[in-house]
Amino acid sequence: MAARIIDGKAFAAEVRAKVAAHVAQLKEKHGITPGLAVVLVGEDPASRVYVRSKGRQTVEVGMNSYEHKLPAGTTEEELLGLIGRLNDDPAVHGILVQLPLPDHLNEALVINAINPAKDVDGFHISNVGLLATGQKAMVPCTPLGCLMMLRDVHGDLSGLEAVVIGRSNIVGKPMAQLLLRDSCTVTIAHSRTRDLPGVVRRADIVVAAVGRPEMVPGDWIRPGATVIDVGINRIDAPEKGEGKTRLVGDVHFDSAARVAGAITPVPGGVGPMTIACLLANTLTACCRAHGLPEPEGLTA
Ligand code: NDP
Repeated sequence: MAARIIDGKAFAAEVRAKVAAHVAQLKEKHGITPGLAVVLVGEDPASRVYVRSKGRQTVEVGMNSYEHKLPAGTTEEELLGLIGRLNDDPAVHGILVQLPLPDHLNEALVINAINPAKDVDGFHISNVGLLATGQKAMVPCTPLGCLMMLRDVHGDLSGLEAVVIGRSNIVGKPMAQLLLRDSCTVTIAHSRTRDLPGVVRRADIVVAAVGRPEMVPGDWIRPGATVIDVGINRIDAPEKGEGKTRLVGDVHFDSAARVAGAITPVPGGVGPMTIACLLANTLTACCRAHGLPEPEGLTA
């Protein structure tokens, strides 16, 4: 039987609509408008596209967007100065520093200078610790989006076998923490894992966050399992014409979709959820800052 295709675009639109409705209420009842500050250092073309898209979507849900575009030669002192000012600004509820930063800037130092309560990317060491100890944290956006989709497919995740392939700080590890928090039995696989196919075949839930095109074939997938493909890989597509490329995930979609119960496509799966969850996190940070109830269904 063919798998249910999880439509990340539609799901993300629903999340944004929920955020927008909550923002409208905040404005009407409390006169509060959530604000997200995005800091971009340098000219990286992909980062510029992301930042533009984040700014547009922030405004579309009724929030204030503050964009700070700094030259590539910005010093650490200047960047930390800006972060300090954003930390102190009551109109700013979320701060995101677009990564990667130019080589002369210390990424960990910069991220850890953000007030953890405004760290909407969830990368600050305090948020990492809060998540790991099961406390109220700001949760990284991509794993939060994956969790929302998994809860939608399964309802209660308790007792399910989950395998996360990849152990990065931005996807694999926080994803595993979230699944553990929802009482899954969690295995984290990585490049040294022995018998990866055997490990993956145990899973009711597979989250692939590796960065290797179509690495996971359908015959690794347990029939009926839910497959969340985080990978975004650009590969040559000679069938589309000379020099053309296309995006694929870490999972071989066609073969996996024949076996899985549900699966996210690439593109149109996890990708659109990431910015939607950034907006959800900004709203959550704003509600927490003002001691107001958090939006339902938009947090971990
Ligand atoms: P990293 O490169 O930081 O981590 C990749 C992980 O995959 C590592 O833990 C590595 O293991 C593991 N790995 C590499 N090769 C193998 C292998 N052969 N078998 C098993 N595990 C392996 O990547 P990220 O976590 O940052 O990103 C992963 C993917 O997700 C990328 O394609 C990225 O573009 C995408 N992504 C998508 C987002 C979205 O919004 N949809 C957001 C963020 C990322 P080890 O630690 O042993 O080296």
